[in-house]
Amino acid sequence: MPAESGFRWYPAVLVGLCAVGLAAVAFVGGPNATIIDDAAGAQVRYAEIPFDGKAAFAHLKALCEIGPRPSGSAGMQKQQQLLTEHFTALGATVTRQTFRVRHPLDGTPVEMANLIIVWNPEATERLLLCAHYDTRPFPDRDAVRPRGRFVGANDGGSGVAVLMELGRHMAALKGKRGVDFVLFDGEELVYTEQHEYFLGSRYFAQAYRAEPPPYRYRAGVLLDMVGDAQLLIRKEPNSLKYARFVVDDVWGAAARIGVREFDFRIGAEVRDDHLPLNEIARIPTIDVIDFDYPYWHTEADLPEYCSPTALEKVGKVMFEWLRSIVNR
Ligand SMILES: [Zn+2]
Repeated sequence: MPAESGFRWYPAVLVGLCAVGLAAVAFVGGPNATIIDDAAGAQVRYAEIPFDGKAAFAHLKALCEIGPRPSGSAGMQKQQQLLTEHFTALGATVTRQTFRVRHPLDGTPVEMANLIIVWNPEATERLLLCAHYDTRPFPDRDAVRPRGRFVGANDGGSGVAVLMELGRHMAALKGKRGVDFVLFDGEELVYTEQHEYFLGSRYFAQAYRAEPPPYRYRAGVLLDMVGDAQLLIRKEPNSLKYARFVVDDVWGAAARIGVREFDFRIGAEVRDDHLPLNEIARIPTIDVIDFDYPYWHTEADLPEYCSPTALEKVGKVMFEWLRSIVNR
């Protein structure tokens, strides 16, 4: 996306801006000082947020090293074990919401599980951060090998990797409201566009509506394809339609810490796991997604096209959003 390249931030430029900003405030003042001071302040706030992009990227690589992780596969089972151990060690309560579907090709039963990771379980007002953790069975948009190997570094791995690192900092986010991370199975157990998407999020949303739990989710954010090394996240139209206040809050958090990859323009309308959450469960949920990823559903959706910086920016925006809302 060359049109957006002018908005990208480079550390050297930032350090320069920071120094200029401090100098202007300290010695010059004047009409531009406030603007420069805001930029410098945002940089300071960004640096202070405890989220390590390199650690998140290491998680992304570890997920890809498992190999393909489609619903019901051995790879998915390995991933479930890894995630359960990871989040339990960090102090969360991890449960599996299990259900069964018929395989779209041969009708055999497939065991599915949403992974629900609970922080501060006593809180009856809760926030939801979610991602899908299954990978598409095949890279069917790959021009050369549409039945090749798909590990979903960005599509399936990136959101999970951000939550894995964010989990390390949840103690710093304890407040009046609790937080749940929910990893959806069956987002894309699909072989053709006729097959059903969003199996896990729909099951989760139906269960929430049919048997209301003793707590309420006040807002939700879905992370999908947030690892693109050329990160650019625009406001998604369905998110604006169902949960505009969450969009405003999250983009406000991004602006406060100077993450300009959260672009204020409106992007493509996306059908994703946030739809069942909004339409069935009535949980105001937005989709944070960089849909402009050249390796989408191809064999090249690999860690090398994702970056620690992208994961860090998204992770820090999520931390800042939660920080601003857990006691509201
Ligand atoms: Zn996908």
